[in-house]
Amino acid sequence: MSNNEEEEKKLILREYRALLRALKTRIKRGDKTLLRRAFEMAVDAHMDMRRKSGEPYILHPIAVARIVVEEIGLGIRSTICALLHDVVEDTEISLEDIESEFGSQLAKIIDGLTKISNVVDLKANTTVQAENFRKILLTLAEDPRVILIKLADRLHNMRTLGSMSRDKQLKIASETTYLYAPLAHRLGLNAIKTELEDLGLKFTEPEAYKEIAHKLSENRRSRESFVEHFIRPIKKSLDAREKNYTIIGRPKSIYSIYNKLKKGNVSFDKIYDLFAVRVVLDVPLEREKSDCWEVYSIVTDHYRPNPSRLKDWVSTPKSNGYESLHATVMSMPFGNDKEGRWVEVQIRTNRMDEIAEKGVAAHFKYKGTDT
Ligand code: MN
Repeated sequence: MSNNEEEEKKLILREYRALLRALKTRIKRGDKTLLRRAFEMAVDAHMDMRRKSGEPYILHPIAVARIVVEEIGLGIRSTICALLHDVVEDTEISLEDIESEFGSQLAKIIDGLTKISNVVDLKANTTVQAENFRKILLTLAEDPRVILIKLADRLHNMRTLGSMSRDKQLKIASETTYLYAPLAHRLGLNAIKTELEDLGLKFTEPEAYKEIAHKLSENRRSRESFVEHFIRPIKKSLDAREKNYTIIGRPKSIYSIYNKLKKGNVSFDKIYDLFAVRVVLDVPLEREKSDCWEVYSIVTDHYRPNPSRLKDWVSTPKSNGYESLHATVMSMPFGNDKEGRWVEVQIRTNRMDEIAEKGVAAHFKYKGTDT
């Protein structure tokens, strides 16, 4: 074995061990053996394959499995499917092999994954493709894991899109913007939706993307000190009432800023809502609603609210499961500004926050479903 092969083998094992660590609390005794079998099957099947970047192909399914565990929060069965998601499509292994080794339930998920990629990769025009895609999703709706793993697959492909040809980049990136990001949104996977949109823009509109990213990093310091100044009185009141909370100010996504610029004929400096402030409370279920409104009351004691922009998704969650209270308030003048700025404040609990970031997968967790 050459030095290089030796290094690659080590790298693959290192990535596999990181996957095991991520799963550690969710893994039972017998499951570990099953996972190892899936890993070895995938390693053998993809043995001589490489990605466009030149790295061993197996690193891709391992990375997808890690996204499934770490970023979507699914369990052992979905992890096995993620490791094997490309074998039926791209290697000698058949669906029957999977079924006899891992049972019919997992084989069904892998079959679904193979079918989605066949539909999407057809050389059809985009309208036909979107229509096919929607049909497939409807028939697969009985097991959302298929779609969740597919989204993890797409996310990793987008993160590594740099090594593809320009043609492929454009095709995959626009598919991501028009099909996959809305899908992630519908499933309530906010973090993944946002990253898919940002990455889509990065490859479809590279100049605009770079410009916004650059400007955001340029004004980071002043943005951060503005946020710090803004949240100080809120913190003081929350502490006085002995609330358990975290509060952060974070910039909105590049994609959403891009759309605001495109729509509104406004310049970058005029977009005051470049960020949102988020208060996340640690409270028991029965106090969620009253505590969220108590925080609303604290925030509006300090800052004047814009009543027309109050959004109450605590009493009535969005159809994708999103729960949160959004208020837009006027800050005090800061720095060289003569007037205040409108700031969006999002108020929610830890449970709501997890559902907002992980969507359906978080619902599984709260229902105790075996994933
Ligand atoms: Mn894949």
